[in-house]
Order: sequence, then C-alpha cells, then structure tokens
Amino acid sequence: MAELTPSQENSFLELWGNMQTPSISDEGTWAEDLNALAAGFDENIFELRNEVPPSAPPSASSVPETCDYPGDCDFTLRFQKSGTAKSVTSTFSESLNKLYCQLAKTSPVEVLVAKDPPLGSVLRATAVYKKTEHVAEVVRRCPHHQNEDQMEFRSHLIRIEGSQLACYYEDPSTKRHSVTVPYEPPQLGSERTTILLSFMCNSSCMGGMNRRPIRTILTLETPEGLVLGRRSFEVRVCACPGRDRKTEEENRNKSPKEMKETKKRKCVPKVEVPALKRTKSGSSGEDDEVFTLQIKGRERFETLKKINYGLELEEKERKKLKPKAVPPSGKRLLLKGERSESE
Ligand SMILES: [Zn+2]
Repeated sequence: MAELTPSQENSFLELWGNMQTPSISDEGTWAEDLNALAAGFDENIFELRNEVPPSAPPSASSVPETCDYPGDCDFTLRFQKSGTAKSVTSTFSESLNKLYCQLAKTSPVEVLVAKDPPLGSVLRATAVYKKTEHVAEVVRRCPHHQNEDQMEFRSHLIRIEGSQLACYYEDPSTKRHSVTVPYEPPQLGSERTTILLSFMCNSSCMGGMNRRPIRTILTLETPEGLVLGRRSFEVRVCACPGRDRKTEEENRNKSPKEMKETKKRKCVPKVEVPALKRTKSGSSGEDDEVFTLQIKGRERFETLKKINYGLELEEKERKKLKPKAVPPSGKRLLLKGERSESE
C-alpha cells in the first residue's frame, strides 16, 4: 500500500471520524421496512404469465401433426389463383401444395366446411419445419427481424391480419408458436371464410428459418381445443414468389434425365463432369480420383451428399472385409469370426 502524506493522513482520519455506523436501535426500522415490503409483495410475480386461455388448451405432443384430416366438417382450404407473374406477392402451387409469398405480404386463405363447427370454434395456424432433422426446433423469426419490430409477439413468424380477435400463443411446454382467430361462418351469399396470413421472415433469414423449408398447419378446433379438421401446406417466403413457383413446378414435371440436360445447357462448361466419362481407372480396381460436382439447390445438394456418404461407408465396409493380401504360405486368410481348420 502506498504511504500517505501527512496531509492525506489527516483528512483520512477526519473522514473516518465523521463516518456513522448504524446503531443497534436502527434494527427496529429495518424490520418494519421488511414487513411493509412483505405486505405489498405480489406472490403471483413468480407465476408465468398465462398466454393460453383455459378455453384453448395447448396440444400435448411436442411435434405438431401435419397430415391432412378433413374430419366431419370436411375442412378444406382453397387459395386464390394468382398465377406466376413477376409482380405477384403471394401465389399457391396446387401441384406442389406449396405457398410462395413475399415477406409480410398478405396471403388470403379460404376456409371451407361442409358442416358448421360448434359455436366458438377457432382456426389455428402453426409453422413447423418440414424436414425430420429440423422438426424438433421451434420456428421463430430471425433476430434481425425481431429486433426491428415493436409488436408484443414479434418472435412469431405467422400473423393473422385483419382481425382484432387474433390471439398469439406460445405453448408453455413445447414453446411452439401459434395464432388463432375465431371461426366465422361465411358471410351471406358466400361459401367460404377467408383468413389473411402473413409470414414475417424470409425462408432464407439467417438465424431464423435459414433456408430450411417449413409447413404451415391450419386446424379447426372446438372451443375446448379438440381438433375437428387439419390441413397443411409448405411455405416459401421469398423475393420472387411467381418466379420460384414457376421454376419449382417446372423442375417437378421434368424427368431426372431432362433435369440433367437442362442443367448442362444452363451451366458453364466447367460443370461437364469427367466422372461420367471415366467409369474405370487404374488396373488395381481402386478409384481414388477426386471429382468436384456443382449442385444447384441446397435440398438436392444435401440428398447427393447423403448418397455419397452412403457409398463411402459401403466402400469402407467392403475394404474391411476384403483380404489385404494373399498370405505367403498360401493359406486362406481367415475372416473375422471364422475358425481355422487346424484348430
Ligand atoms: Zn428474418
């Protein structure tokens, strides 16, 4: 510790002398303060805010069901025919059962029932990742879009527009998001009810969907939360819904051979894959030459990656079983688990 100069020492002593320590008599005041605090303490402060009203119990399963179930009401969805023009902000592909829409733009979804559901029934929209490897993860907006937004439920991807009665839920156990609106019977002269969905992130949003395809599940539920009908469809939120729909529909209608040919025509000559010409190499039968393949589209890339991984695994297994060399004595090499005749 540094030495204090005489003047510093004096002022320190002065300060110390002036300091007051709480006396024993103060204890009474503290206790009173504590009691006052306890009296005003709200015990409910520890209870999680219950966003789910008792009328709509959350589903118990952690992975929402996506399979179509028309139910007794013959619950059906219909989308407006918007075509694939460049300017279109939302369009639905019947052949792919897939909605293409722009970020935060309205997608009208028509709901049809053959029989009226019980009074007080609701329509619920939930988003879920399409692929098994992502399905356990809750679909949320990316941090960037969440931060930009001041809305209370800003982490929710799906919104229902045009209704003051839209309710946003987070399942207390699964943390999955959903939004409901009361089911309203069609207006006079109409056969369907229309709800307006909007998706608040792009499919490509980093830290959010991150290019992982999603499905939207729409359920018709009784006031008690019993599912009367379910429909689901894939959703892609992108800058050019018309173009993307057209491309994906065209690709679907092509045979794998045609796809290969289109790819060849479109791509730079570099993509000409030498592997196609060279099926055999070297006299040893080992093919250790490495090729690079350019693949368009992540989904296709992941599929081909899996195939390649499978082939490598198979080769590894084969190498394990194959004798490395003929033993010098001319004896047959024993495979694992085999018994020698001389034993
Ligand atoms: Zn986003």
